[in-house]
Amino acid sequence: MATITLLGGKVELTLGWSETNRVESALEREVCPSCGSPYCCFSCDGSQGSDENSAYDEEDVADRLKFNGGLDTLEGILLAAACEGLIAESEDPKWNRIIETVLDAMGNNV
Ligand SMILES: [Zn+2]
Repeated sequence: MATITLLGGKVELTLGWSETNRVESALEREVCPSCGSPYCCFSCDGSQGSDENSAYDEEDVADRLKFNGGLDTLEGILLAAACEGLIAESEDPKWNRIIETVLDAMGNNV
């Protein structure tokens, strides 16, 4: 079993037998302004649109879910890359740059 950390420990990839490979990540999800859940999709009390002063709108929800889904995908790719032996060591500067570039690109698209 091996553990590889990236981005100053914000991403932790643990490799073992295939069923135990996993990624722990502290990459920040965007959260619902009402309930604080990253996965809320009009499912909490504050998100139903009854409050006209609420800053909650459908476009915000779509952007948030898209961004969070992008992080899930990024983490999956990193785990797969580590499983294939492409990420050889913790805090590999090349991979840290790759992650930062992807995060920048996601930020620009939201
Ligand atoms: Zn919510």
